[in-house]
Amino acid sequence: MTVLLPGATLGVMGGGQLGRMFVHAAQRMGYFTAVLDPDESSPAGSVSHHHVRTDYLDESGLVRLCGHADAITTEFENVPADALARLAERRPVAPGAAAVAIAQDRAQEKAHFTRCGVPCAPHAVIADADDLDRVVDDLLPGILKTARLGYDGKGQARVGTRAELRAAWEGLRRAPCVLEKLLPLAFECSVLVARGRDGAMVHLPVQRNLHRAGILAVTEVHEGCVPAEQARRAVESTRRIAEGLDYVGVLCVEFFGLEDGALVVNEMAPRPHNSGHWSMDAADVSQFELQVRTLAGLPLVQPRQHSPALMLNLLGDLWFARGAEESTPDWGSVLALPGTHLHLYGKLGARPGRKMGHLTVTGTSPQAVRAVALQAAQRLGLQPF
Ligand code: ADP
Ligand code: MG
Repeated sequence: MTVLLPGATLGVMGGGQLGRMFVHAAQRMGYFTAVLDPDESSPAGSVSHHHVRTDYLDESGLVRLCGHADAITTEFENVPADALARLAERRPVAPGAAAVAIAQDRAQEKAHFTRCGVPCAPHAVIADADDLDRVVDDLLPGILKTARLGYDGKGQARVGTRAELRAAWEGLRRAPCVLEKLLPLAFECSVLVARGRDGAMVHLPVQRNLHRAGILAVTEVHEGCVPAEQARRAVESTRRIAEGLDYVGVLCVEFFGLEDGALVVNEMAPRPHNSGHWSMDAADVSQFELQVRTLAGLPLVQPRQHSPALMLNLLGDLWFARGAEESTPDWGSVLALPGTHLHLYGKLGARPGRKMGHLTVTGTSPQAVRAVALQAAQRLGLQPF
């Protein structure tokens, strides 16, 4: 494939916040952009040169996107793999439909991790009622997760007994599921890699993540935020997982660090990830610029983190922190703190649990960053961490 230089048009399937930050990165480098998303007021559609407003599988929409864009990427993992395959008949598409299809299905995803020799949590695939009977006691207590379409802790249930397992599966409407053993987590972390068509790969430093109620709340990135040996294994495993998919684009892999020092892979996202947002403010190449570079066929250089960073997710709950009426958080009070970088996604209407934006704090030391981030959290009414 030829290199697409600035002046070309880069397309993205999906118009959420990840698409918006991709569009910003592409436009900063002089590219034109096209977004396909059915929502008229989508965060990415509203800042893109072109916005095709159709369903993801609408043939006329896909043709129109190809009419605008010289190459196409994706920003959310539930873009139908079939739509990507159809686009790929007309334009270069990265990541490819096959890799995205694996990431869309927890059972296939775990099979891929295992093929790559990367350990994941003990689990069983639940396709029918007989599979429930075959579940071994060792998997309980566990977490039952729908194989497809789960995100931010949705489509999951914690189960302690066989009776609870059965009830939970009925509650998930007997959807194909994976039952995972509940593991004693010491920490969670993630790694982002970018891989080009030529197989060249670079990665961002290991990110330490704190989830609350299944949703990412805090990401911290600095030397030593994850024990060195587990950090090394996380990077090496992520590279192997990307290579095994012959992946092109940005891939994020999430891991669990266990109390006994083991590192276990959790899941992957075939796109930039919430845990990599800090890179826009604290690294010389962000995850979104990496996505632009892989899609356009530009060289990949190893990103350099130039400041410790801590990111706080800003969920819609914040808009209701001062009562039942929706009110805008006091941004002025956090922007008065040194090294704060506010990102809001332009979403109309806050809802509890909805990702509205994030705040990244940078500074001269991890301690200084943490101190400012704690102050910011307090001023916004976020729980300390
Ligand atoms: P999602 O697709 O919603 O992000 P995950 O599988 O990543 O779903 O689960 C969300 C969170 O739930 C994880 O980040 C972790 O905090 C917790 N969790 C998931 N699986 C396990 C497990 N097997 N053991 C312990 N905690 C888990
Ligand atoms: Mg997750």
